[in-house]
Amino acid sequence: MIDLRSDTVTLPTEAMRKAIYEAELGDDVYGHDPTVNRLQELAADLLGKEEAMLVPSGTMGNQIAILTHTSPGTEVILEADSHIYYYEAAAASVFAGIQPRPLPGKRGSLSADLVEWAIREDDIHLPPTSLICLENTHNRAGGTVVPLEDMQAVYQVALKHNLPVHLDGARIFNAAVASGVPVKDYAACTTSVQFCLSKGLGAPVGSIIAGTHQFIEEARRWRKRLGGGMRQAGIIAAAGIVALETMVERLAEDHANARLLAEGLAKIKGIEFNPEDVDTNIVIVKPTTMSIRQLGEELEKRGILTVAIEPDRIRFTTNKEVNRADIETTLQQVKDLLG
Ligand SMILES: *Cc1c(COP(=O)(O)O)cnc(C)c1O
Repeated sequence: MIDLRSDTVTLPTEAMRKAIYEAELGDDVYGHDPTVNRLQELAADLLGKEEAMLVPSGTMGNQIAILTHTSPGTEVILEADSHIYYYEAAAASVFAGIQPRPLPGKRGSLSADLVEWAIREDDIHLPPTSLICLENTHNRAGGTVVPLEDMQAVYQVALKHNLPVHLDGARIFNAAVASGVPVKDYAACTTSVQFCLSKGLGAPVGSIIAGTHQFIEEARRWRKRLGGGMRQAGIIAAAGIVALETMVERLAEDHANARLLAEGLAKIKGIEFNPEDVDTNIVIVKPTTMSIRQLGEELEKRGILTVAIEPDRIRFTTNKEVNRADIETTLQQVKDLLG
């Protein structure tokens, strides 16, 4: 199978399995797992934040950040197609009791002017704004890199209004590798950051959230409340360390494969799509001569897995389990079906 459904399908490398086997362990709920502590220090250092914490998933990381920054009855500004709004089963409403305020972005980026316009005035009719969420790279916009200047502009607005900014940086390393901007620079215009170890970086499980010492202290209590306190979590952290130390630069290969796929798909007649929209490892296209369902099914019969992300759009996500030859096979199959 050529699995282009997501970069979450990636399997741990030999080095990760070895690191897992050899990991020195302790009870992380007491803060006594040396491998978890090492991962957290490494992550905080990479992001330029005071402290970092391992969490079971990106979703839990985002939700812990929202729970830590907000209180019930307040409003959270976020992008209308963001993962937090679209793909987290309304968790922020259920757990944090916040009201989301979705705003339209351009290629996943929120304009600072629009954000400022949406911040609530002090009026008893209105929910107070408590948090601004950004996403980089932006998943549903097609793995687009949100420019650093856009994030800085939103952060300036946030500072002016004394609001925290949370970055859903599930794929922030993809953004950094594609743009050449260090992750630290992106993190510098946020109050808290979440990133996934378990996507393109190839670790089997886990995400990191990072921020100030005080933020992480409160976040740790939320993680416990949600049942995310894990005991000998060094088993997970060991692979995360290998991911951060050895798997970041190779994201460029995923981006090159996505570029190859994009250029090829753009040449196929029955597809509507601009390859310039592809910044990283996600390619979203609209077939015009076949339904999404039928195209997905036909590709699957030919050993290629994709996902329908809209009634009329299909997503291909390159990842380390897929090589250049697989991309060429995929292009040939799509061409045979649509061309
Ligand atoms: C995958 C993803 C998440 C959630 O990560 P999980 O580990 O699957 O819960 C959050 N945000 C974005 C943008 C993602 O792509």
